[in-house]
Amino acid sequence: MTKKGIVWIRDDLRVLDNPALSFASKNHEIVNALFIYNSELYDNKREAQKWWLSKSLEFFKSELANYNINLEILSGNEIEILSKIKKQDISIYWNKVYEPDQKDIEKKASEYFKKADINFKFFKGNILIEYQEVQKDDGTPFKVFTPFWKNAEQKYLNKPPFKQLNLKKLKKSEQIFKNSIDPKKLLPKKSWYKKFENYWKPSETVALQNTKKFIKDRIKDYGDTRDFPNIQGTSKISPFLKHGQISVETIWRFCGEIKNKGKGYRKYVNELGWREFSHSLINNFPEMLKGNLRKEFDNFPWIKNNEYLSAWKKGMTGYPIVDAGMRELYETGWMHNRLRMVVASFLIKHLRIHWKEGEKHFRNCLLDFNEANNVAQWQWVAGSGADAAPYFRIFNPILQGEKFDKDGEYTAKWVPELKNYPKEFLHKPWELEKKQQEKINIIIGKNYPSPIVIHEKARAAALNAFQTLRK
Ligand SMILES: Cc1cc2nc3c(=O)[nH]c(=O)nc-3n(C[C@H](O)[C@H](O)[C@H](O)COP(=O)(O)OP(=O)(O)OC[C@H]3O[C@@H](n4cnc5c(N)ncnc54)[C@H](O)[C@@H]3O)c2cc1C
Repeated sequence: MTKKGIVWIRDDLRVLDNPALSFASKNHEIVNALFIYNSELYDNKREAQKWWLSKSLEFFKSELANYNINLEILSGNEIEILSKIKKQDISIYWNKVYEPDQKDIEKKASEYFKKADINFKFFKGNILIEYQEVQKDDGTPFKVFTPFWKNAEQKYLNKPPFKQLNLKKLKKSEQIFKNSIDPKKLLPKKSWYKKFENYWKPSETVALQNTKKFIKDRIKDYGDTRDFPNIQGTSKISPFLKHGQISVETIWRFCGEIKNKGKGYRKYVNELGWREFSHSLINNFPEMLKGNLRKEFDNFPWIKNNEYLSAWKKGMTGYPIVDAGMRELYETGWMHNRLRMVVASFLIKHLRIHWKEGEKHFRNCLLDFNEANNVAQWQWVAGSGADAAPYFRIFNPILQGEKFDKDGEYTAKWVPELKNYPKEFLHKPWELEKKQQEKINIIIGKNYPSPIVIHEKARAAALNAFQTLRK
């Protein structure tokens, strides 16, 4: 073994259950963690995540210092930086990231390390089971969730249970790289991110606390509460999971400790299964990151309409439940899953704007953006993906509001213009008589927009457009 080990950190900003870090700390005298910040991945693409990353790296750096591990952040291209490491008394480690571009970088890095005769080793990344292990009997990948998850879960359960991994405290630390930057340098230029500070504390400690609390208090009701955005029925663990502040195997282990594994537990574990499925999809069918998985959708008559797109992004469509979701996203960097489905369906089906526009906007605004879930879910709503919602399933934004936000609590929170609106009209405010609108001093078309499209007409037009694909 060499004296020094470098752990190349990406989506694994944690101390607990971090295979590469744990291994390095037990096998080397000196360990450094290296995070490479490639601004090309973030600028105007993942602005919200710059904030999460900056805060998380700051926390992680101080956590690692407790183990005498120095976290160094370098800015630039991954391969250019990694290939500056020359053969010396050093070994390199990393946990895999299951995104085709990242896999490509890992491949190039491995080729370089082999050529330069540098010792390296990589470990399973933040999924339960390697996607190649989950296949149909004929050796092809699953395209339907239920059989995929049945197979994947069973394979995972058949393995020896995942044992907790810790770090060993080292005797001393060392700085290896020059030009290491301060995590604060990663903050987005626009101060939009400042609002996120009211909602999130991005650290491993908070990830663990929140997960434990969710499992203790709320998972039992998850099956019933997860669809209602006015209550905190879900775990809100997604931004932490994306950045690896908690490993999915840690969550699994915590869930395994539940004594009465009822409906809530089952449903929650199923959602982790959807996450596995998305990862399997983008790795088996990487072409879906660029376009429709179902090629017939290449002929779909999408509409280009910047006015509609902008109204959607700003939460000004005139459909309160849609606008509430979009405003929650902009304000907090997160949106409830029910709303993600509603707003995505509205963009794709009511406005007939390409799902890629929505995917791009989510990518830029979501703190939990993850390539696998985002693309797979956008294509699921569009009907162009694997195991997708059928094209004729067009969410009615009025009924969705009435069903999932009956008392309008969530909607009134994010669309405060309507907070004094009569409840029975909250999800269809244009139906309230003009005289009544004047009486309460909220005029639709003036204080809050009139609907940009009429639901019935938009629905009929969408169905017609989808019919063209069948000809
Ligand atoms: C259009 C659209 C885009 C989405 N984009 C993303 C994204 O970029 N990143 C992301 O993590 N999720 C995405 N999702 C999935 C889902 O909305 C979020 O994972 C969930 O809302 C996160 O909140 P939570 O942690 O409270 O979830 P919980 O309900 O507590 O679920 C726990 C975990 O299970 C996983 N999970 C839950 N639902 C899904 C799902 N439908 N598909 C895959 N995994 C799921 C997530 O990792 C989540 O953190 C998207 C969904 C839609 C409809």
